[in-house]
Amino acid sequence: MKDNCIFCKIIKGEIPSNTVYEDDNFKAILDIAPANKGHVIVLTKEHIENVFELEDDFAQKIFPIVAKIARAVKKTLRCDGVNILQNNGTAAGQTVFHLHIHIIPRYENDNELLTWEAKSYEDGEASKLVEELQKNL
Ligand code: 5GP
Ligand code: ZN
Repeated sequence: MKDNCIFCKIIKGEIPSNTVYEDDNFKAILDIAPANKGHVIVLTKEHIENVFELEDDFAQKIFPIVAKIARAVKKTLRCDGVNILQNNGTAAGQTVFHLHIHIIPRYENDNELLTWEAKSYEDGEASKLVEELQKNL
């Protein structure tokens, strides 16, 4: 637990939340400022800042919980789809530095756009990049 971390305070029960799911490792709550109603965030109970601090044995526990909640969100909200989103670092839009995964209900033409302008690679650039990435795995 980290002082002054809003999600640690939520996990300790010092700040109230609408809790959807809880187990030994995770607490899933309604986001206070949802992109659409039913937007859930899954918080790790341990204070892990983001994916760069995440250990493999813990990482593998996350997705089954996220998938379970995504199915419940789809069934409950009767949405057309969900975005599963996780921000790491300020440049990537992370505002709370305690690991969390967003599950956002989506509807055809809801205009909550998560989009980007597509870039392209020069000749040979993609294969060189793949080589560099593989060296860092
Ligand atoms: P990030 O931008 O770091 O990926 O997402 C942080 C999310 O936490 C935002 O969507 C924001 O609305 C949500 N959030 C921030 N403070 C609180 C809070 O006190 N309670 C709840 N339920 N959500 C919060
Ligand atoms: Zn924390």
